[in-house]
Amino acid sequence: MTAFELQSTDGAARTGVLKTARGELRTPAFMPVGTKATVKAVDPQELEALGAEILLCNTYHLHFRPGADLIDELGGLHRFMAWDGPILTDSGGFQVFSLRHTILRQDDEGVTFRSVYDGDEERFTPELSASIQRQLGSDIAMCLDVVPPPETPRRELEQAVRRTTLWAQRQQRVERASGQLLFGISQGGADPELRRRSVEEIAALDFDGNALGGLAIGEPKDQMLETTAWAAELLPQDKARYFMGIGDPAGVLEVIERGIDMFDCVLPTRNARTGSALTWEGQLNIKAARFARDQRPLDERCSCPACTRFTRAYVRHLLNQQEILGLRLLSLHNLRFLLDLVAGAREAIERGELRSYKAEALARLAPAEEATWAT
Ligand SMILES: [Zn+2]
Repeated sequence: MTAFELQSTDGAARTGVLKTARGELRTPAFMPVGTKATVKAVDPQELEALGAEILLCNTYHLHFRPGADLIDELGGLHRFMAWDGPILTDSGGFQVFSLRHTILRQDDEGVTFRSVYDGDEERFTPELSASIQRQLGSDIAMCLDVVPPPETPRRELEQAVRRTTLWAQRQQRVERASGQLLFGISQGGADPELRRRSVEEIAALDFDGNALGGLAIGEPKDQMLETTAWAAELLPQDKARYFMGIGDPAGVLEVIERGIDMFDCVLPTRNARTGSALTWEGQLNIKAARFARDQRPLDERCSCPACTRFTRAYVRHLLNQQEILGLRLLSLHNLRFLLDLVAGAREAIERGELRSYKAEALARLAPAEEATWAT
């Protein structure tokens, strides 16, 4: 039995339902990122009200602080952070390999690195990643993969593909939390032969879902989208497809159109910390002087808690004074914007109108002329 039920298609785009131990998730789905068991500045009850159906938490960070043993002892991650819905945990692979300067050595057995917390020598193996994710009790666990940076020499890229498959085979044999799904991840960058090999090897292992990893990490955008299109086509129809690490409004629509069901990104909350609002007029630097007397909400079409009650002028004032409420309001708004955008895409697919939805959205979202110097 498969956890994913395909519901409708529109070109390569699809809608579906992913069944997890803690409820169903409608796809396409954006997953807000709660790196350290919190989506920064936002209460889980607020996330639910915003329309989030699943969160992503980071194995790497939770392993080091506060530790999976402690979270396990306290009843698991859901209870710890008071979120009852589905949680996906990444494997730690992306963190280890994106913090490249901390890597000491890697071999077929695992990867040794210095923790960013205290510089201690640590080692991740597929078995350890599985065990941490079992203790956290997430609903979807991810396989530990090797994530090479863009422009990695082919020989090393091939090594990463080989090792990613080897680790996936090992992780598949490790005991999981009750009802926990396990997704495989393909690598291979944008190299057609290596990506194809990786997608086929991982798909053959018959995981509950399949992810594309090692994309949107700095390679040219058209290369990334082209790879996504044909790689998604190679993946089984009846399993969820997860594009790891994309969250800009245009990018999200592009991968949905190419048959991706799930994606995650820190962008909405990270943008909030820099004072940038996602809106239907493009990204606005709310700290700018031109908003000082602006009585409009952040976005006229948005019904989030920030837009229903507060003006741009007020949010600008809060942000410029580093008031915590400003950060909270902008985080709530940016999350709602992205969740609404994806919900809209989902409805458009059901109507067979994704193409026009996307065209209209992209025309409106084109980056507004920003006077970023005017603060
Ligand atoms: Zn809003």
